[in-house]
Amino acid sequence: MFIEPTRRREPTHLRTGWIEVICGSMFSGKTEELIRRLTRARIAKLNIQIFKPALDTRYHHENIVSHSDLTIPSTPVQTASQILPLAGDCDVVGIDEAQFFDTDIVNVCINLANQGKRVIVAGLDMDFAGNPFGCIPQLMSVAEYVTKVHAICIVCGDLAQYSYRLVPSKERVLLGETESYEARCRRCFNLGENAGRKEWVYENVTDDE
Ligand code: ZN
Repeated sequence: MFIEPTRRREPTHLRTGWIEVICGSMFSGKTEELIRRLTRARIAKLNIQIFKPALDTRYHHENIVSHSDLTIPSTPVQTASQILPLAGDCDVVGIDEAQFFDTDIVNVCINLANQGKRVIVAGLDMDFAGNPFGCIPQLMSVAEYVTKVHAICIVCGDLAQYSYRLVPSKERVLLGETESYEARCRRCFNLGENAGRKEWVYENVTDDE
């Protein structure tokens, strides 16, 4: 589990900032982990500002809501560059669904960290085809701390890192969540429609006996 580095209570311009990236597939608990860290920062009486892309409106227009209904107020923004002026003199900046932001998001995060702020960014690291998503790879490169969280494969129960799309669409951005995707491990993701639940159960029973 991620433990926050301790830092002295100094004016922002005298202290160092850093970038944390929380990435993984859908249903991996990224947003829960982001909310957990932001809640702890709030308990520490740090000023926090939270942003998300305006396009992610599946649950609520202003709150960040995780699958398990944790919620925290956030500001929707159209472009990454809008974050800089809105962040003001806060101590901690949280950014959710970062894969949907434009390429400016990398320099925005660097700029905020250089100002002495703690920047916590959460996002999908791969799209439905298993390709790196948006600027998450670049953000992982420039971050001090990277946490990859995992879901559980719906088919076989192994650790899952892929968001398998259940509906036929080539659109990269398809919002709608539970009904459109399921978490899968590498093997079941590659098996696609042939990943059968029953077959797996029989395989495992016979192997052990
Ligand atoms: Zn699997």
